[in-house]
Amino acid sequence: MNLPGALKQYFGYDAFRPLQEEIIVDALAGRDVFALMPTGGGKSLCFQLPALLRGGLTIVLSPLISLMKDQVDALQASGIAATFLNSTLDGNEARARLRGLYGGDYRLLYVAPERLMLESFLEKSKQWNVSQIAIDEAHCISEWGHDFRPEYRELAKLRTHFPEVPIMALTATATERVRTDILKQLKLRDPRCYVASFNRPNLSYRVVPKAKPYEQVLALIRSRPNESGIVYCASRKTADSLAAKLNVDGIKAKPYHAGLETADRAGHQDSFLRDDARVITATIAFGMGINKPNVRFVVHHDLPKNIESYYQETGRAGRDGLPSDCVLLFSAGDVMKQRRFIDEKSEHEQRVAHEQLRAMVAYAETRDCRRATLLRYFGEEFGPSCDGCDNCLNPRETFDGTVHAQKFLSCVHRIQAKSGFGFGLNHIVEILTGGNTEAIRQRGHDQLSTFGIGQDMNRNAWQSIGRELLRLGLLAAAPGKFATLQLTDAGMAALRERKPITLTKPVDVEERKRSKHRAGEIECDEALFERLRVLRRRFADERDVPAYVIFSDVSLREMARDYPTTPAAFGRIPGVGQQKLRDFGEPFTAAIADYLATHSRA
Ligand code: ADP
Ligand code: ZN
Repeated sequence: MNLPGALKQYFGYDAFRPLQEEIIVDALAGRDVFALMPTGGGKSLCFQLPALLRGGLTIVLSPLISLMKDQVDALQASGIAATFLNSTLDGNEARARLRGLYGGDYRLLYVAPERLMLESFLEKSKQWNVSQIAIDEAHCISEWGHDFRPEYRELAKLRTHFPEVPIMALTATATERVRTDILKQLKLRDPRCYVASFNRPNLSYRVVPKAKPYEQVLALIRSRPNESGIVYCASRKTADSLAAKLNVDGIKAKPYHAGLETADRAGHQDSFLRDDARVITATIAFGMGINKPNVRFVVHHDLPKNIESYYQETGRAGRDGLPSDCVLLFSAGDVMKQRRFIDEKSEHEQRVAHEQLRAMVAYAETRDCRRATLLRYFGEEFGPSCDGCDNCLNPRETFDGTVHAQKFLSCVHRIQAKSGFGFGLNHIVEILTGGNTEAIRQRGHDQLSTFGIGQDMNRNAWQSIGRELLRLGLLAAAPGKFATLQLTDAGMAALRERKPITLTKPVDVEERKRSKHRAGEIECDEALFERLRVLRRRFADERDVPAYVIFSDVSLREMARDYPTTPAAFGRIPGVGQQKLRDFGEPFTAAIADYLATHSRA
């Protein structure tokens, strides 16, 4: 059968995603392949389709036992003979599956590396007609990556154990260092390397000044009723307290972090996957295990340490290709907190960490396209602009800020002259606005000529001017524990020469202009979509699987747009392969016909 035909028959899709077809062709030709694709790029299909088209068994190595069942359930729902072996199975079940493997009943076997690499297991597998090996999350082999797993190191021996079997390694890790390391460690044979673009067109990026973080997060979640999202927090405490507050406000939320009991953690993750909990408030411990395709927003309540983590964490949104939002709450205070953490590290670590943080802050403060900024960090050219980030959608208005800048700069100058050292942003803003604080009285800063000269504007506005002056390089934040502000040479010159200074207006926190059409958007009959969602949920619960195993949101939206009421029309919906047409065609087309009896088409 030809590849597009197989793609439709098994998975119900009409077209390949970028690089999928090339990778599959190479794999079928027996070559080793190394595939780098972003999350949501469609890596699984690259080994699943060849597994179906060639004889024998494909072994899929995957680090996460908790995910194997869902992956296998999803394949089985498409009528594909897949199974897994891990410690969650009882003896009888495991023996039955082993018998099936000897009998050639399966096309795919999911197993963890530490199990496959057991001498006894390798011995058995030699009799299973293994025709392909896929190493998922291949970056786990690298110590430079964020998910190093020592047991992956054993996989270096795979190539010699299975000299004739083509191996495919896959990862979404974007850094060069990890990529090279993976190739070196795995000792692949003349591998063909594929690198997809790491741009995620359906994700939109936004940075908002962190003012009242809880209210901001709540407003964001409320503006997306029924949709799932992740809120990343810097600490376990924040994750716990956010979840608690959200529940009080009627949002089903669960925390996830390394401080929870294993069973609670697994339970919370599961209820998120199954759409019982709509929001998960998590530390970075919540990671690779989430292959939930319909995460519609990822909010960072606190500043991530580096761009790589930020990219990976936001990458968990919108795997299914539908529009999804990535929002970062940003404050100068968070930067200072991070700096303080870093100052506790060893000197060598400090250098790297400060550099990474600097890049992260530059992302948060840039007026350029955020997408281009992210991709440039990974060595990919993009741009100059996109239609899915705040800077491109709402170019900031500028204003003549000469007078305000002069006031601010001269205040910094006076303080330095009086006290002999600098002070932090907040203190300077207090002086400008004539604050009556203990620190001001103690230092005699109420005696400065700049005390209270900025009462025409509120503190937030002054803070944002301070940040702008930092960004423009007229002020510098001294390194060290307390981020005190100092005039730079350029700042001194600007002050003396009264140079005109253009500032950008701070964004309104609530402001949200949408592009006319968002990348990946499928406009549909929302009322019907909700009905179909309920129906999907019923089937998912009956089978005890997550909803997306039945149909993705993409499939449901396509149904709610095209109103298929015949098997033929239903079969044309993306994601409806032969098996799903047989299993679900009748109830779904009936529900749509039923809906049309009382509603007109949208
Ligand atoms: P990755 O492992 O790269 O993060 P997945 O393999 O989980 O990505 O695929 C992400 C989503 O895209 C899944 O819901 C999958 O069914 C879907 N998908 C994969 N390939 C295609 C395709 N060719 N057309 C439409 N959807 C696809
Ligand atoms: Zn942009």
